[in-house]
Amino acid sequence: MNQGMPTIEPNVTTLEVETPACAVCPHPWATHDRIAMRFCTATTTENHSRGCVCR
Ligand SMILES: [Zn+2]
Ligand SMILES: [Zn+2]
Repeated sequence: MNQGMPTIEPNVTTLEVETPACAVCPHPWATHDRIAMRFCTATTTENHSRGCVCR
């Protein structure tokens, strides 16, 4: 009988919050307004390399 098992706490510390980063710019999606979202989505879809409009 093994009773020396330490209690493993579910230490789920997710540093990445629910704000996934954009694929084409270094800004998280949370900082994108509607224009920026459309812009970055188009950039991703059309495979452009034109930076972003969000700040
Ligand atoms: Zn973006
Ligand atoms: Zn951006």
